[in-house]
Parts: sequence; C-alpha cells; structure tokens
Amino acid sequence: MSPFAYHDGELHAEDVPVRRIAERYGTPCYIYSRAAVEQTYRAFDAAFAGCDHMTCFAVKANSTLAMLNLLARLGSGFDIVSGGELQRVLAAGGDPGRIVFSGVGKTAEEMRQALAAGIFCFNIESEPELLRLDRIAAAAGVTAAISLRVNPDVDPRTHPYIATGLQQNKFGVAYAEALRLYRRARDMGHLAIAGIGCHIGSQLTELDPFVAALDRILELVDQLGSEGIALTHVDVGGGLGIRYRDESPPAFAEYAKSLTARLGGRRLKLLLEPGRALVGNAGILLTRVEYLKQGTERNFAVVDAAMNDLMRPALYDAYHEIRTVAAPNGGGATYEVVGPVCESGDFLAHARELSLRENDLLAIMSAGAYGMSMSSNYNSRPRAAEVMVDKKEAHLIRKRETIGELMVLERVLP
Ligand SMILES: *Cc1c(COP(=O)(O)O)cnc(C)c1O
Repeated sequence: MSPFAYHDGELHAEDVPVRRIAERYGTPCYIYSRAAVEQTYRAFDAAFAGCDHMTCFAVKANSTLAMLNLLARLGSGFDIVSGGELQRVLAAGGDPGRIVFSGVGKTAEEMRQALAAGIFCFNIESEPELLRLDRIAAAAGVTAAISLRVNPDVDPRTHPYIATGLQQNKFGVAYAEALRLYRRARDMGHLAIAGIGCHIGSQLTELDPFVAALDRILELVDQLGSEGIALTHVDVGGGLGIRYRDESPPAFAEYAKSLTARLGGRRLKLLLEPGRALVGNAGILLTRVEYLKQGTERNFAVVDAAMNDLMRPALYDAYHEIRTVAAPNGGGATYEVVGPVCESGDFLAHARELSLRENDLLAIMSAGAYGMSMSSNYNSRPRAAEVMVDKKEAHLIRKRETIGELMVLERVLP
C-alpha cells in the first residue's frame, strides 16, 4: 500500500492531506512517510533474517537527522562517506558499532574521528589509504578493522544499469591487486582484517550483476582463506533499485535469497548498504505552480521547486512521476515542468500530460532518496522544508532555510 494516495479527491501522505502541509509549511517541501520507512526497513531486514547480517543504511541517500534517528530506532546500521555523515549518525543516536565508513578520499581527521567513535569497519579503497589508516591507528594506540572494497569488474555491457553514471575506476581496489593488499595489511601493526566488499552501482533492477559481483568477491574470500587470512564479513554494498516509472526491481526476498544462496557453507556475516531502496519511495517533493507559460513549441509549468531542490532530473535525466495534488479528472495539456533557476537544465519533468492551473500543487514522487541530500543553495535559494508524516500528524523535521541563514557565514571586505 502506498503511503501517498488520493482520498476525498486529494493526495494524502498517510492520513494528512498534503495541501494542509503546503498551507502550514509552504512549498517546496519534502514530505516523508514514517510508516513507509518503517515498513520498508523491516521488510528489507526481515528478508535476511535467516542469515547473520547487518543492514547499514547509506546515509548519503537521505541524511536528515529525523530520518537517521528513525532508522537507528529500527536497529539499522549506517554506511557513511564523510566525517559530516559520521557526526550526523552520532547526533541521531546511531550505534557507532554498526557504522561502516566508505569513500575514496577519507582524510586523516575523518579517520581519527571514526576511530575515536569506535566504528565497525573502514571500507578501504586504495593502498595509500591502507597505509594512512595504519599510521593513524598507531598514533591513536588502537587497531582499525578494515575491509577492502574491491572492484569486481563485472562486465557493464551485459549489465547496462551498472555503467550508467558510474566511473568504476575511481572506486575500490583493482581485483588483481586485492590479494597483495590483504597480505600487506596483514603485516601492518594496527589493522585488523575483517572483511571484503564491493558496491557496483545504483538503481540496479536485475539480480545478475549483484550475484556475479558477489561470486567474484567470494573467490577472493576462498583464496585468502587458503593463505590463512580468514574474513568474517562480506559487504555487498547497496544499489538495489526502486520503481520510479515502470521498472521492476527484484523483490527484497529474491534479492536476499540469491545473495545468501551464494554464501554456501562459508561462515560470513553479510553486510548490506541499501540507500535508495529503503527511502526512495517514502518521500515526495511538494511544489506549487507559479506560472503556466505558453511557449511557441511547448507549454511550460513553472513551479517553485527547482534543480537545486531535486537534482536528479538535471543530473541524470532521471524520471520522477508527477501528480497533481487534486485528484486528476481528465483533460489537460502537455507540459514541461521546470523550475525558476537560470539554467536550461533546470527541469523536473518533460512532456507530462497534466491538468493544471496557476497555484495548483504538484507532488514529485519517489523523492525520498538523493533529493534533499543532494540539494544546494544555487541561485541563493533557501533549501526546502522537510516534514515527516506519522498517521494524522505532520512533524516539521527541518525548517525551511532563510535568506539570512544563507548569508550568516559571509563577510564583506573591510
Ligand atoms: C551510494 C552508495 C550506497 C547506496 O547506494 P543505493 O543505490 O542508494 O542503494 C552504498 N554503498 C556505497 C559505498 C555507496 O557509495
């Protein structure tokens, strides 16, 4: 059941008419459904119930404190990619013992902070990073648990979803280098080899690439085992897709079954780093039509949300369904849905059949992941408010920014 549905002729988030949220908190405004996040997290985690596992929400998908807190309450771990995300998870009440730290460019300071917090594991992406972490752990007098993120080199031609927007080369260590690096890590004084992992891309809608990547990683697990380097976990990353339009991503149960089946008799804890799959369809971006503009070739609906609020259409030419908040009753015209930002790339949707008048509210669907977390202040636009709905209640979880707040850190020359 979708948390965003029409009742009495207008779109609701759970039991709250989204129109009321617009009246109270203004637009543009992100709206999340608590029930949707809870149901999705529980369904995902339950799919792996038969297997020793840890679900680590990828914080970059949605890093708002209330969202992280909600997931922490559900027992989620977290996959972070910066010191800022570490601080957010800790501020939200996340368990440091359930944090994995990914990313190609961890600074010395970020490593120190993560060691001090006592995170579960560092996902290491290069040889120099291994050396740096050993040095920093030594200086702190601790041992750092590590896992190498390996590039499994799964052929992108047979799996086009992986290739989309992914620069494989920047991420992970080359497959052929992995064994040598594990041997090196074994001989370093302040590293504890814990696991191995990969993350092959995002919005994947087929199982095959996940399975192929895991199989490649497990070959390394076995080779390492035969050399006496025993790993305790394997991290399959994130990347499970959602339905934006007509995609049919694998169900959680199928995903879990095909991964756990590959583990065979190996005694390995399975780590998962889902981002989009947990929150993508738990949020919408609410926006208001400012102008309906008749072009010579196209009609434009100029709305008050823009690429700074939701970057995915501009960045990836991504599709988001757009719904009128008033239940559709036929008619209408074809619109380009665009924002006020001074860029031709500032569009939210192309050629949508919509029945619109000025001042109407629109819901941009599937905006719970990589929406607010990728937003910016481009064009000096304050970032949107965020609201979490819980049954009949709408809680403001992030106030709309003010222009004053945008300028507060700045100084003019004396
Ligand atoms: C972005 C990212 C994820 C989450 O990806 P989704 O497609 O949102 O599931 C997981 N792990 C790493 C290392 C990432 O960079």
